[in-house]
Amino acid sequence: MAFRRMAVSIAAAALALGTARAESPLQGEWIDLTHTLDETSVFWPTAEAFHHDAESFGQTEGGYFYSAYNIRTSEHGGTHLDAPIHFAEGAQTADEVPLDRLIGPAAVIDVTEASGSDRDYRFTAQDVLDWEARHGEIAPGTIVLFRTGFSKFWPDREAYMGTAERGAEAVAQLHFPGLSEEVARLLKARDVAAVGLDTPSLDYGQSKDFIAHRVLLGAQIPGFENVTNLDRLPEWGASVIALPAKIGKGSGAPLRIVALLPKGE
Ligand SMILES: [Zn+2]
Repeated sequence: MAFRRMAVSIAAAALALGTARAESPLQGEWIDLTHTLDETSVFWPTAEAFHHDAESFGQTEGGYFYSAYNIRTSEHGGTHLDAPIHFAEGAQTADEVPLDRLIGPAAVIDVTEASGSDRDYRFTAQDVLDWEARHGEIAPGTIVLFRTGFSKFWPDREAYMGTAERGAEAVAQLHFPGLSEEVARLLKARDVAAVGLDTPSLDYGQSKDFIAHRVLLGAQIPGFENVTNLDRLPEWGASVIALPAKIGKGSGAPLRIVALLPKGE
């Protein structure tokens, strides 16, 4: 009865070690920074929306319940990853983004006030320097998240992005805040792991050259877009885990992003 002997020795080992739960480094409060992905999710006006088509739903002839769906979607909608190759030929694809760019300490930079009074606000280097005056220089490997407050408009497309229209003509009507070129260059110089925000795009809605995308993604720094619940994070102290679907050759991917607040935060 080798199996039985093994079971007994596992039980003995568990007794000797005590409960594993107490040893976990992942203790604290988990906060989901992800919008639910469904037909109401906000997508870029030119992007294919999220489709979720039932293949099966209900009782089978075998007497058990079974449900399964097919999904069809742009890579760039809902809460999602921008892989470096999205704006940089030859750069990393969604499946190639290293885990140490997706998991790390989070610096949360609040730009709610300026974004609330100007939908076309572009984050300035001073926004970052003000944060650094309180917490110290942003260290390499930090995940930087900008909090504009725009996630409160989700999924109202007009309030969130400036237009509910779709198609190429709607792009000119996009109005939401995003990164300036100087901020993108500063974060590149800081060697940050990744940059995220609670709007549809790293670049502001009126951008024509997508310079923040080009600077960051060109430096293999991925983006997290349409993030939510940033109002629940401290400026410093949370850790982020952002795991996208591992799409081979993907320019982006649906993303599940969560934060861990250590106890007492
Ligand atoms: Zn994107």
